[in-house]
Amino acid sequence: MYQKLEKLLDAQRVEALTRELVSVKSVNGTSGEVAIAAKVESILRSFPFFQQHPEWVWTQELVNDRLGRKNVFAFIKKDEAAKTIIYHSHMDTVGIEDFGALKEAALDSDKLTEYFKKYSEDPDIQKDACSGDWLFGRGALDMKSGDAVNLTNLLYYSEHPQEMAGNLLFMGNCVEENDHSGAIAALDELEKLKKQYHLSYEVAINTDFISPKYEGDQQKYIYYGAAGKALTCFYIKGIETHVAIHMPELILH
Ligand SMILES: [Zn+2]
Repeated sequence: MYQKLEKLLDAQRVEALTRELVSVKSVNGTSGEVAIAAKVESILRSFPFFQQHPEWVWTQELVNDRLGRKNVFAFIKKDEAAKTIIYHSHMDTVGIEDFGALKEAALDSDKLTEYFKKYSEDPDIQKDACSGDWLFGRGALDMKSGDAVNLTNLLYYSEHPQEMAGNLLFMGNCVEENDHSGAIAALDELEKLKKQYHLSYEVAINTDFISPKYEGDQQKYIYYGAAGKALTCFYIKGIETHVAIHMPELILH
């Protein structure tokens, strides 16, 4: 992948990487999550810095995971430096069912742009598609563009180590869109690294998407502090009264 990026400006690198990552289907809970981890790992391994230091890219497989999903790590270590910044992002996406008839094009940004350029049913989307400023595709927003930003920044600092005052740790997590088991498992790895290299984690930057707060809001927000997630689930169980005659034990309920 690096060959494709080499001559590009940083913003162009982000776009190229986003397209590349979107093209890999990585719906949460499918083997696509393993494929995207392999893709991210191979992108990292193509960077000249990691070609020279292959040991600084590694994966962490989730314990007892039926799909063998994994987190991907890459580390740029400054000699004697303890201060460390973590760039983290998730690699899975939600499903593509909501694309309906466009399902086949859900991972093809160019095809979707062409489609929406002619989409007069929604002039707003049509205008965006015609502007050339928008990238369509499942995960383009949440959050493969965020993965791409982290990869681009990591590449930049690997090429400009003199601008680094500390260490940079890249972390790509699997299983975000439901249980967060990727990030939870990664905590062990972060603790292990901290002890092994005497690190001090100064800040963790999560590049997941931001969105306007109201119609027409042009402000770009940066949120800071701790983030949490509440997963609300409903389990509703009924009693099959119409089959009660065949299942007498149900009557007891
Ligand atoms: Zn996200």
